Amino acid sequence: MQRSTKLLQLDGLIDDPANATSPPIYQCATFAKSHTDEHNIYDYSRSGNPTRDMVEKKLSILEESKYAYLVNSGVTAIHLIFELLRAGDHIIVGDDLYGGTYRLLGLLANKNITVSFIDVTDVNQIIKTILTNTRLIFVETPSNPLQKIVNLPQLSQLAKQHNTMLVVDNSLLSSWYQQPLNFGADIVIYSATKHFVGHSDVTAGVICTNNEAIAEKIKFLQNSLGVALPAFDSWLLFRGLKTLPIRLRAQQENTLQIVEYLQTEPMIKHIYYCGLKTHCGYLIHNSQSSGYGSVLAIDTNNEGISHRIVNGVSLFKLAVSFGNLSSFISIPVKMSHFSIPKGKQLIPSSLIRLSVGIEDANDLIDDLKQAIRQAKT
Ligand SMILES: *Cc1c(COP(=O)(O)O)cnc(C)c1O
Repeated sequence: MQRSTKLLQLDGLIDDPANATSPPIYQCATFAKSHTDEHNIYDYSRSGNPTRDMVEKKLSILEESKYAYLVNSGVTAIHLIFELLRAGDHIIVGDDLYGGTYRLLGLLANKNITVSFIDVTDVNQIIKTILTNTRLIFVETPSNPLQKIVNLPQLSQLAKQHNTMLVVDNSLLSSWYQQPLNFGADIVIYSATKHFVGHSDVTAGVICTNNEAIAEKIKFLQNSLGVALPAFDSWLLFRGLKTLPIRLRAQQENTLQIVEYLQTEPMIKHIYYCGLKTHCGYLIHNSQSSGYGSVLAIDTNNEGISHRIVNGVSLFKLAVSFGNLSSFISIPVKMSHFSIPKGKQLIPSSLIRLSVGIEDANDLIDDLKQAIRQAKT
């Protein structure tokens, strides 16, 4: 069975005597025992909830991973990964990362954990930076928003040789288009707020792994820190997952049409999108992914013009986040990546990020066209 079919199957996922075609929401904090010796699967929703468990199973089917854990946001997922580190450890992270990840990395200094920010697309740089106490390598591919592409099989092999874990933040494409565990990554994390939820109505995070020892630690942290995703939010995420394949397909089709239009606009000096044949990571990307997604970045090389474009559109909402059914536009240095200090910022201040939704592509193109035309004057 294909994953798109599996996404819609409920059989065996939840015990429901009513056989409802939409699964029940177990909106409860505690579960009663019938006597003191009874060992229930469920006793308290922080530790386990049937609705959340069902969605975790669904996510592991989608990811083709042994384990999947749902937490209350993408940054929580990243935080739990950092909780696996000990004082004295060293980690390597990509130099183009989500701003919230950058902010979390700032907490590691207090724990005596050192961080090297490097261009993880350059294997020689990684080899030079890797130390005997390097515990993990954390990357995004494509990175957000510059769409740098990491060679996953090569990097995972290198990580294994050095007894280091490879962690991939796969939020930009979702497991529908890319499954890093199949290319040797040890852990994959998601901001499920983006493509998995897709409707901009829940924040959530996911951690996937095939490694039992890691899974046990994550499960322990999910329970003991009380960061598991609540039942209703899990249910909304489940609802979003059912349409993931068709949403992503429609969004990518629109994105490709928009990119084609943008290439004809002389005002747009650079387009960052891994689906462009001229992208330096295009071949590597194609060898490890089945799609390019619906997020791209464009640069006019002029801050004033970029701001006028962003302020001049009306269908694209000026909002952070991506992967939503409707289109968003943003200036990363002022919004999603604001936490990165100016001296460490790789992103040009004139860079515009677009997240393309499922509206009619021609309407979106017309919206951008009029905004670009009026930005000139
Ligand atoms: C949004 C985002 C996160 C953080 O996720 P939240 O759900 O907002 O906490 C992490 N990584 C990437 C790549 C993101 O885009």
